[in-house]
Amino acid sequence: MNIVGIDLGTTNSLISVFTDDGPELIPNALGDFLTPSAVGLSGKGQVLVGQAAKDRLVTHPQLTQSRFKRYMGTNWGQKLGRKHYRAEDLSALVLGSLKADAEAHLGAPVERAIISVPAYFNDVQRKATMAAGQIAGLKVERLINEPTAAALAYGLNDKDGESTFLVVDLGGGTFDVSILEMFDGVMEVRASAGDAFLGGEDFTDVVTKHFAEKLDVNLDKFSAKKAAMLRDLADQAKAKLSSEHEVSFKFIDDKSNEQTLSLTRNKFEELTEGLLKKLRHPIQRAVMDAGLRAENIDQVVLVGGATRMPVVRSLIARMFKTFPVHNINPDHVIAMGAAVQAGLVSRHSALDDIVMTDVCPFTLGTEVAIEIARGQHENGHFQPIIERNTVIPVSRSVRNATIHKGQTQLNLRIFQGEAPRVNNNVFLGQVNVSIPKNNKEHEAVDIRFTYDVSGVLEVLVEVLSTKEVSRLVIEGNPGALTKSEIDARFKELDKLKVHPRDETVNVAFTARLAKAYENHLGDTRAEIQHMITVFEAVLARQNKHEITETREEIEPHLKAFEDRSIF
Ligand code: ADP
Ligand code: MG
Repeated sequence: MNIVGIDLGTTNSLISVFTDDGPELIPNALGDFLTPSAVGLSGKGQVLVGQAAKDRLVTHPQLTQSRFKRYMGTNWGQKLGRKHYRAEDLSALVLGSLKADAEAHLGAPVERAIISVPAYFNDVQRKATMAAGQIAGLKVERLINEPTAAALAYGLNDKDGESTFLVVDLGGGTFDVSILEMFDGVMEVRASAGDAFLGGEDFTDVVTKHFAEKLDVNLDKFSAKKAAMLRDLADQAKAKLSSEHEVSFKFIDDKSNEQTLSLTRNKFEELTEGLLKKLRHPIQRAVMDAGLRAENIDQVVLVGGATRMPVVRSLIARMFKTFPVHNINPDHVIAMGAAVQAGLVSRHSALDDIVMTDVCPFTLGTEVAIEIARGQHENGHFQPIIERNTVIPVSRSVRNATIHKGQTQLNLRIFQGEAPRVNNNVFLGQVNVSIPKNNKEHEAVDIRFTYDVSGVLEVLVEVLSTKEVSRLVIEGNPGALTKSEIDARFKELDKLKVHPRDETVNVAFTARLAKAYENHLGDTRAEIQHMITVFEAVLARQNKHEITETREEIEPHLKAFEDRSIF
């Protein structure tokens, strides 16, 4: 049974499959790999998807919808004819069309898919994407972050290598940046950042405005049809400028006068300076979040049609002093990676030695009260437990105390997001815990979050004095797994549910440090004390990768001290 990979883009969508020859794109009925993410109604009320709908954006803007991906998971909706469509309904129509193309091409039914989403999609947007798949009759096996898919497409080319990738994806409406590490066939995402409202379309908008100024027309007063035509022209001008230094077009204005519009690459660069500035920030943040510097990046991978613009390429080349790799077409990379993921899910034998790890794209935590004055607490603060960009699966715990002595109930609210106040984050669920009445002391609870690659979060709350544990399972994608499948997964993750401080290797290492401290005096002792402080701080952060690295860094120094111990 085929599992397909789908790049459900803002502007264009693609479908692919993993074959014995590796990932392969599937052409649509018109023979193109790119299907515009556009939906429209024909005069007869027939639903049109793809190029046909896109072409009618100009002639029938009222009957056509595009760029709806950015409204996934919101209440946004549009009427087409008599029917009301939400973003997921429109996406479902695009998915349905891709599914039909794949079935025609493969000569077999297609029922299972991997769909890519921007790394910064929150839980609600991810659910909406799953829902779109379901409406289209697809069982969505897994969502894959777009940049992860891109790296996976490239990782396969160089699977014995060891390198750090920066993936820069500038599509039509979204911008995603990720840092990934490939080591011994394991691909690990170290950081991701982005801007959900920045893309190639914004460059087109700038050119459209510029043309309108040249024509001396007010775009808002222009007829919808003429405005769409002008925008279409601006889009062509932008794309042509990626390979030419100057472009010019004829345009028939509202009063049927023929006008010539031209644009040079230099002028284009000047017009888009503001947008280029906005591209820098997420790139810098991703590099910083990964704890790296520009010079640590080995390969820069460009994804998305808009990275074809020479201005974007040179910005990145300047930032990283290296030329981006682009042996895979930037429009195809994500779909190719989604196919690789599909191959992994269906356990294709060609992929035996590739392991994927993923990161949690957002921070998960609980609501806590903060003491603002003696005895006075303020609710509504966010306490992160699993931080954004933590490699998953992961399990982290924190110890909290009740606010009041004698309190018998704790209502713990769980959130996802990056804001310091929970109101600005996404509410995921609540655990109600009974606390034994204790008028003398505050009761302590351990809150453990375990997050699995399938997007399931398990919350365990243990009241220390009674040892009673309450459990809540929050599914990123309700219904995708059965209850017993979820339980089985979390059983497997039990080994993660140990504080690194209590893991044998770390217990032993801490003991060696303590012994070395005992055996030395003076400056050496101070140095060992420093190692202990560093290692304890790293343990407290509970990041396995960092702990192993730190242990390996300290090891030779500790060994040297042990060898010169005086007894
Ligand atoms: P998405 O992932 O959002 O569907 P794509 O990766 O397909 O987007 O990129 C679409 C964007 O790339 C559009 O804004 C389009 O105008 C732009 N684009 C495509 N080809 C070129 C080109 N040659 N030069 C500049 N921009 C281009
Ligand atoms: Mg894309």
